[in-house]
Amino acid sequence: MSAITQNMHSNLVWLEQGDVVFRAQVANKPFSRAQLFKVPKDVISKESLGLKKILNESRKQRLQVYADCPVILVDEDPDNLELVLAVICYGIGKNSVVDYDTCLPFSTVVTMLHMGVKYRVDLLRNEAGRRLSKCFPSILEEYNPRLFSDPSRNIRGKLVDVSRTDAFEVIRLAHQYRLHFLLPAAYYVAAQLPMRELFLALETNQIPMIDFKRIVCAYTSLQRLSVHVVEEVLWQGPAKTCITHEMCRSKLNSLVSLAIRDSYEISPGPKKGCLDRRDVLESLMLQVYDCADCRAHVMAQHDTGRSATWDQLKTIFGLEDSRTAEGDMEKHVSEREKACMNYV
Ligand SMILES: [Zn+2]
Repeated sequence: MSAITQNMHSNLVWLEQGDVVFRAQVANKPFSRAQLFKVPKDVISKESLGLKKILNESRKQRLQVYADCPVILVDEDPDNLELVLAVICYGIGKNSVVDYDTCLPFSTVVTMLHMGVKYRVDLLRNEAGRRLSKCFPSILEEYNPRLFSDPSRNIRGKLVDVSRTDAFEVIRLAHQYRLHFLLPAAYYVAAQLPMRELFLALETNQIPMIDFKRIVCAYTSLQRLSVHVVEEVLWQGPAKTCITHEMCRSKLNSLVSLAIRDSYEISPGPKKGCLDRRDVLESLMLQVYDCADCRAHVMAQHDTGRSATWDQLKTIFGLEDSRTAEGDMEKHVSEREKACMNYV
C-alpha cells in the first residue's frame, strides 16, 4: 500500500466526528487512484449492511492508523464509494450529492442501483429504482414517450437522461435485481427501435437472445395494435353528433394517410409506436378540425385503444406468468451476480 497523503482525502466525505477511514481503490490495478473517507462507524453500520460486514471482518486484521482512525481497505472505485458514503452521511436532498428531482445521467442512476444493492443501502437502491420507474412506469398515465425522443432536460418530471437504447440495460437490470415492474415498458421502448439496432444490440451482447426473441416476436402484435389504435379509429368516421359530416369525413381520410405513413416508416424521422402517437394525433386534429365533436370522438377512441394496448404489454412480451420472469432471472444472472444479489 502506498503512503497516505492529505491530498487523498475526499473533499466531500471527510467528517471530523468520523472514527474510521475507508481507503477505496480498485484492487489488481497497480496504479489506480486511491481515496480516503473519514466517517462515523455507527452511522455506516446502521445504514449499510454491506459496509457493516466489511467493518466486522476488519476487526480480525491489524490495521494501519491514520488521523487517529483505523484504515480499512475497500476494493472499490473511489467515485462509487464516495457516492455511497455521501448518501449515507448526508441523505438524499437539496444539500446532498443526490436530490430527488435533478435529472441525472443514465449511467449515474445505474451506478446508484448497483452500489445500493452491493452495499445494501436501501436509500440509494430505492431512489435509483424510483427514477427508473418514472421512465419505464407500470401505469400508462406516467408513461411519457417524449423522455426518449426529446434530448432536452427541460421536460417536467424528467429524472433520468435516458435514450431508447438504454432500455436494453434496464431489461438486464430488471432481471438481475428482480425489478420486474420495469420490464413491460422497457420491452416496449426497445421494440420501437429499428430492427437493425436490435440486431446490433444482440451482436454486441447488449441484449441476450431470450430478450431479443421476445421483442422480435412482439413486433407483429405491436404493428397490429398500432393499426387498431390509430388507423381504425380514423376509418370509423365522424362523431355521431357531428353536424359537418361530409367535410369531417374527407378530413379524416387525409389524416388516415398521415397516420399510416407514420406507422410504416414512410415518413422521415423515427417510427412512433402506437402508445407514442397521442401528441402527434392531437396536434393534427387541432390543425385540421374545427369540429370539436369529431376531435373529442377520435381522441376518446384513441385513448381507449391506447389503454387496452398498455394492458396487453405483459401478454405481448410473454410476461403474464410471474414464474417466467423468475425463470429468466436464472438464465440471466451469473453466479457472481447471484452472490451479490444475496444482499437484496
Ligand atoms: Zn365533425
